[in-house]
Amino acid sequence: MFELPEAYTALQREAREFAASVRDIAERADEGDDIDPEMRKRLAASGIVSIMVPAAYGGRYERVDSLAVTVVREAFAAESGHLDSMLGMQGIGSYAISVGGSESVRAELLPQVGRLEAIAALALTEPGVGSDLKALTTSVAERDGELVVNGHKSFITNAGDADFYSVLAREGEGYSLVLVPASTPGVSVTKPHQIIAPHVLGDVVFDDVRVPADNRLGEPGQGFKLVLATLATFRVSVAGAAVGLAQSALQEAVRHAAGREQFGVSLARLGSIPGDLAMAWTEIEMARTLTYRAAAAAARDPLGNLHLSSMAKVGATEVAARVVDRAVQVMGRFGLVRGGKMERLYREARPMRVYEGSTEVILDSLAKQLVKGLTR
Ligand SMILES: Cc1cc2nc3c(=O)[nH]c(=O)nc-3n(C[C@H](O)[C@H](O)[C@H](O)COP(=O)(O)OP(=O)(O)OC[C@H]3O[C@@H](n4cnc5c(N)ncnc54)[C@H](O)[C@@H]3O)c2cc1C
Repeated sequence: MFELPEAYTALQREAREFAASVRDIAERADEGDDIDPEMRKRLAASGIVSIMVPAAYGGRYERVDSLAVTVVREAFAAESGHLDSMLGMQGIGSYAISVGGSESVRAELLPQVGRLEAIAALALTEPGVGSDLKALTTSVAERDGELVVNGHKSFITNAGDADFYSVLAREGEGYSLVLVPASTPGVSVTKPHQIIAPHVLGDVVFDDVRVPADNRLGEPGQGFKLVLATLATFRVSVAGAAVGLAQSALQEAVRHAAGREQFGVSLARLGSIPGDLAMAWTEIEMARTLTYRAAAAAARDPLGNLHLSSMAKVGATEVAARVVDRAVQVMGRFGLVRGGKMERLYREARPMRVYEGSTEVILDSLAKQLVKGLTR
């Protein structure tokens, strides 16, 4: 009951073996601003991306399985943030197509997504709008049987490399999701920002961009339903990535501490270090347990278990931040060396508490549910 079923441990082994096989290019890929072609080629050849689309379109599972995605992201994030992001975005950027796209759009795109032939992206954030998505200003309007999109999206993962964007835009009194191929006239990409842990990021401007009406995903004005469905399926996978990253940081710290002496004693037995290492281990195991439970629940009923996915996301990303900070401390100056694995993990842990629902925004929504539950 508290162990992963065999089907998932087999997938975990496969993901770990693959992640270890790209170790030689992980540092270069993690420092890049664009999708690393060699990493992409190897990931495509692995066939693992097929977990991100339903079986009817070449996927491994009947529908996208949150526990499978979580287990794979845990293995990938332990080795490379770039690898983890490349995999994660194929699901996050295409899920609205899987559940809300027309049959012809699904049949055209999803097999390509699962083979990593088409790169996916989800465009919600704008220069002036982050957590408060309902304030967004990008618009879509139907004219002469086409959808016309205007607006500016910001901090979009895969911008520049993506083959299509699922764009959230205002339509009348509601919000719709629209599929915009990157090659459509009027779409332009700039790269005004780079973050502490380099990421394939950019801003995307839509200037009178016209796409067929069939590119609306879901019903007009109901785009938030698809965004919520996406979050409910994938938020917990960020927790998986955080657990993998934290485990990797702990292993580095333990290896270092066991192999170094100060004051004639192994670092692993010196001062507060043994307690720090043991506490990190304990916190990782707690985070992993909640994460697997939430992911298994999300695989059964994503929306009904969003509270668990949210708790796992906050819990695991906060644990990763504490663990990686302690791990750097245990390694002293060696944890700070630019380009070293620990330094990379330290930088990669930080954004996890901001994207896919910041810690504070998730806690605020959980607190509201908690109080509502008490007063019901
Ligand atoms: C690496 C990375 C990749 C990203 N990729 C994408 C992408 O692919 N697509 C996309 O659309 N976006 C993407 N984003 C943007 C991301 O979704 C936003 O950063 C996130 O939604 C938070 O918005 P913000 O950064 O504008 O912060 P703000 O919303 O301005 O929040 C600032 C601070 O205020 C706090 N806060 C805000 N509201 C509340 C509240 N109600 N109660 C309490 N505290 C609150 C927040 O927790 C935060 O600490 C990405 C961001 C990063 C860092």
